[in-house]
Amino acid sequence: MLLKGKVAVVTGSTSGIGLGIARSLAKQGASVMLNGLLDPAQAEKLRAEFETEFKTSTTFSPADMSKPQEIQNWIEGILKSHGRIDILVNNAGIQHVAPVEDFSIDKWNSILAINLSSAFHTIHHSLPSMKKNNWGRIINLASVHGLVASANKSAYVAAKHGLIGLTKAVALETATTNITCNAICPGWVLTPLVQAQIDNLAKAQNISLEEAKNRLLSEKQPSKEFVSSEQIGETVNFLCSSAAQQMRGTAINIDGGWLAQ
Ligand code: NAD
Repeated sequence: MLLKGKVAVVTGSTSGIGLGIARSLAKQGASVMLNGLLDPAQAEKLRAEFETEFKTSTTFSPADMSKPQEIQNWIEGILKSHGRIDILVNNAGIQHVAPVEDFSIDKWNSILAINLSSAFHTIHHSLPSMKKNNWGRIINLASVHGLVASANKSAYVAAKHGLIGLTKAVALETATTNITCNAICPGWVLTPLVQAQIDNLAKAQNISLEEAKNRLLSEKQPSKEFVSSEQIGETVNFLCSSAAQQMRGTAINIDGGWLAQ
């Protein structure tokens, strides 16, 4: 129970990678503040399941990560109810795939807001509490697309490169404290975000879902296996450990060899 007594905030934790990270943190005893777009009944079910399974206090907030005021209210609410934030995982993210000249301006603005600016807002409001306790872990879910590009993902690639830049700046500003800030850069993880891309590929190329999945993997990920949310969760736990105390401003790729090529 490495994280007993710690309060962990995970944005976008009702699904996919965020949910895997929230579960890993709770397994180590952290109280997890869940967030995401989920109807109230399902959200309450998820929150209650966490409390039953992990025996830690768990909250849920539907704060919309594209809305700075909702982010501020959520973080301030946690500081009021729990008195501290120790671990902040900026995970919420969306994707949209289109050539840059066809890219809708609304989609561009949403991706920048949710995948990049939300991390600025959560850090801005949480850092004073970490500084007061002289301990903290900020972990930003970037992507291999924070380090290299793919065609038709202009907003996502721009946001994720920006998120790695933000990670480095915050790491430098906290370098003489026990607060660290790092980024994790996954390759393909089979979550609803990626399933949507598999569905679109199958439709566009008139191939089966299985074939689309294999094509997606073969194109970029040499292992030809998906990364799992659990593997990312365990990496978050490692970054929370004392072994990672001097890891500052890094971008850790977990990508089945994508970036080795
Ligand atoms: P997902 O679609 O399974 O989950 C996204 C989560 O974000 C959900 O909980 C959703 O409710 C939440 N969310 C979306 N918009 C929100 C908003 N406006 N406000 C609050 N919450 C919101 O996606 P995922 O694949 O688990 O992705 C999680 C993160 O990992 C994203 O930042 C994504 O870019 C990144 N990532 C994913 C992959 C992958 O292959 N799946 C690879 C690299 C990086």
